[in-house]
Amino acid sequence: MVKTPEKTGPTPAPSEISPPENKIGKKYHSIFTSRLFSTGLRFTFACIMEKVKCLIIGSGPAGYTAAIYAARAGLNPVMYTGPQPGGQLMITTEVENYPGYPEGRTGPDMMEDFRQQAARFETDMRYELISKVDFSGPVHKAWTETGHEIHANTIIIATGASAKWLGIPGEQELQNMGVSACAVCDGFFFRNQEVAIVGGGDTAAEESTYLAKICSKVHLFVRRDEMRASKIMQERVAAKENLIVHWNTEAVAVEGSDAVTGVKILNNKTGETSTLPVSAFFVAIGHEPTTSIFKDWLNLDESGYILTTPGTSKTNIPGVFASGDAQDKVYRQAITAAGTGCMAALDAERYLVEQGL
Ligand code: FAD
Ligand code: NAP
Repeated sequence: MVKTPEKTGPTPAPSEISPPENKIGKKYHSIFTSRLFSTGLRFTFACIMEKVKCLIIGSGPAGYTAAIYAARAGLNPVMYTGPQPGGQLMITTEVENYPGYPEGRTGPDMMEDFRQQAARFETDMRYELISKVDFSGPVHKAWTETGHEIHANTIIIATGASAKWLGIPGEQELQNMGVSACAVCDGFFFRNQEVAIVGGGDTAAEESTYLAKICSKVHLFVRRDEMRASKIMQERVAAKENLIVHWNTEAVAVEGSDAVTGVKILNNKTGETSTLPVSAFFVAIGHEPTTSIFKDWLNLDESGYILTTPGTSKTNIPGVFASGDAQDKVYRQAITAAGTGCMAALDAERYLVEQGL
């Protein structure tokens, strides 16, 4: 974890870009009129409607893995990559906990590997966003931002989630330079150092106890005089001698220029401010799944995560499957996202067989 990579997404070479033709899917009145290469993105205008067997929404570890499995099963998947081709790992550098990369791999390089593997089996990748869906009928409908309409027998949702941030000075500027929203991912880089973390829920409790195992000292800032976390998690926090809980404490600024040097904190009871010297600042105040376009059709939990039948990727709508961080509030790792992407593709394949499609 050093710096945010300059490249924000795998840009298809013009030679790789082809009109939005799904090899198996039948296409009606598709008029491919324009592509914009200057931004490296492809835009498709004036397409009216096309039919596909398998539509994948999202291109993080879950989406690419679903694409590899669906393509190899002959489902000719069409993938819409969305606003962040490659997903969340595009904003990190070293990923050291994904099996198969003994020396680690940068997030963008790893997602380029995923992309190439999905492309090898001829996944039809489109660098655009799905902005609306309609799951009212047996054939599921989706629309791109430019109005292209897709009728899909199966849909695999892999739209991920994103961490909530505090919005304080220094937080954005020092991301990947000591500010992180994933202790399991980035804590290792600060082993034997003094670090801070903010939050009062189970994530903060879990991540702070994780950090306490590898860091010399951990400061946990809780904005109230109690934690929201479950009793057992709070007991684990209390049991760690090198984990100091600062009650009624808010982080108001992250300090440092090219690395975190400290966090300015405010005691909201006394009004006292001080600066705590630390070399990393973790934010653990919750995540937001990217599921708003599905909320009228799918069962979501109170935080917006898509509910699936346990042990499967099935949603409440037959033929619509959910994978990755969009349906996982507990693990939220690349490997679990990839695993559930695989499950979704296998579930989609079985569904198509059952339907005789
Ligand atoms: P995401 O990676 O979130 O991808 C979501 C995809 O959906 C994106 O491609 C996006 O463009 C697309 N999308 C969203 N909305 C739409 C739409 N409407 N239409 C079309 N597409 C859409 N995990 C680890 O295992 N190891 C690590 O070291 C690690 N480091 C991390 C570091 C950071 C800074 C962060 C933020 C996370 C890290 N994680 C790590 C967690 C890991 O990145 C996630 O668990 C994983 O990326 C989730 O994969 P996903 O495919 O479910 O979703
Ligand atoms: P959460 O339960 O919503 O808790 C978020 C915490 O962050 C709350 O304590 C909240 O404070 C605090 N917070 C929010 N905004 C803040 C701000 N601006 N400044 C300071 N603090 C702020 O989120 P979560 O901890 O990520 O958990 C999400 C869900 O996943 C929960 O259902 C949880 O049980 C589950 N989960 C379970 C496990 C597990 O079982 N092992 C592990 C992780 C998560 P307030 O309390 O004051 O609102």
